[in-house]
Amino acid sequence: AWSAVPAGPPDPILGVTEAFKADKDPRKINLGVGAYRDGQGKPYVLDCVKKAEAFIEASSPDKEYLPITGFGEFTKNAVKLAYGVDSAPLKAGSIAATQSISGTGALRIGAAFLARHYPHAKVVYLPDPSWGNHTPIFRDSGFEVRKYAYFNPATLGLNFDALKADLLNNAPEHSVVLLHACAHNPTGIDPTPEQWSEISDICKARKLFPFFDMAYQGFASGSTSRDAFAVRHFVSEGHQIALAQSFAKNMGLYGERVGAFSLVTADPEEKARVDSQLKIVIRPMYSNPPAHGARIANTILSNEELYAEWESEVKGMAERIISMRDKLYGILTNDLKTPGEWSHIKSQIGMFSFTGLKKEHTVALAQKAHVYLTADGRISMAGLNANNITYFAESVDGAVRG
Ligand code: PMP
Repeated sequence: AWSAVPAGPPDPILGVTEAFKADKDPRKINLGVGAYRDGQGKPYVLDCVKKAEAFIEASSPDKEYLPITGFGEFTKNAVKLAYGVDSAPLKAGSIAATQSISGTGALRIGAAFLARHYPHAKVVYLPDPSWGNHTPIFRDSGFEVRKYAYFNPATLGLNFDALKADLLNNAPEHSVVLLHACAHNPTGIDPTPEQWSEISDICKARKLFPFFDMAYQGFASGSTSRDAFAVRHFVSEGHQIALAQSFAKNMGLYGERVGAFSLVTADPEEKARVDSQLKIVIRPMYSNPPAHGARIANTILSNEELYAEWESEVKGMAERIISMRDKLYGILTNDLKTPGEWSHIKSQIGMFSFTGLKKEHTVALAQKAHVYLTADGRISMAGLNANNITYFAESVDGAVRG
């Protein structure tokens, strides 16, 4: 039956991990995958997560199904974390929300809901570049996918004039605009608060629909409220946003698949109608979400002590990454005098740095130095630690000098 099925291309990020696994050199480094590693290069389970799991275990929960939209207490607390306790639509009870299969599932539910109920053309604008999964998520949901300018390769910074021109002049009214709430993946470059404010004004003037993807709340700056600035600003400006949240990075719950999708509506009556349709979208997709991860996240979000511990652990992860940025910049610039300008490594934020290394550099790094990164020159800063950062910097220096 499947003789005509063509082989698909390998996933660009998971392919890097395959090559890394096959390499037997003890110096090898994997900077491809976007998962946090501790100072010893090991996956990290947060202490607050371990404690939450102990609480859950002690309460001997059953294995019954959750409702279609998941664990309601969790979703309520997730929404509070994102929008802030002072959010007007939160207080008014007009935010429709559901648990989701992490951030990916939230995006997919949102795209499917909009595809069915958004009363305008199904056109979405993604930043150029964006997380690789955004295009297939929206395309598979029936959207036409277009790009707006974001990264300027000449400055390794934000191309804000071109971004504004695209949203002002090129995007038709009512287009959906996907915005990375913080720690833009893959570039690590975010708009400033003033620039966010301008983007909000443009979305309003051009009647664009803001769909926020918040996969790194707390992970960018170490503060969950600072990282929620863009989302909260848009909401305070009256935008009825869509929001995809993930707890993969900020709680280290990657494989537990914990997330939430929410939509700001006009009032509680509209919210109730939207909630009813979210259920109708979700039921044939996967019926209802898994319980364990949502119980962990909710235990942390609802327990004062665990919440405080979580905040300090998120901050610890963010700070370790920031210290690796400073160190890498210092070695390249001061110790090795590597040709080129490397200050973007320090100014970029979040899990990733868009180094500016070219494809040929990434090939040389893999072949000669056993260092693996994606072909676009993106490195996961979390893969660096005191034991490998000097070797990494020397390898980059070698690749750049050819
Ligand atoms: N959006 C962005 C921008 C991401 O970087 C990621 C994770 N790589 C996600 C969404 C979703 O990840 P998950 O489904 O694991 O929450």
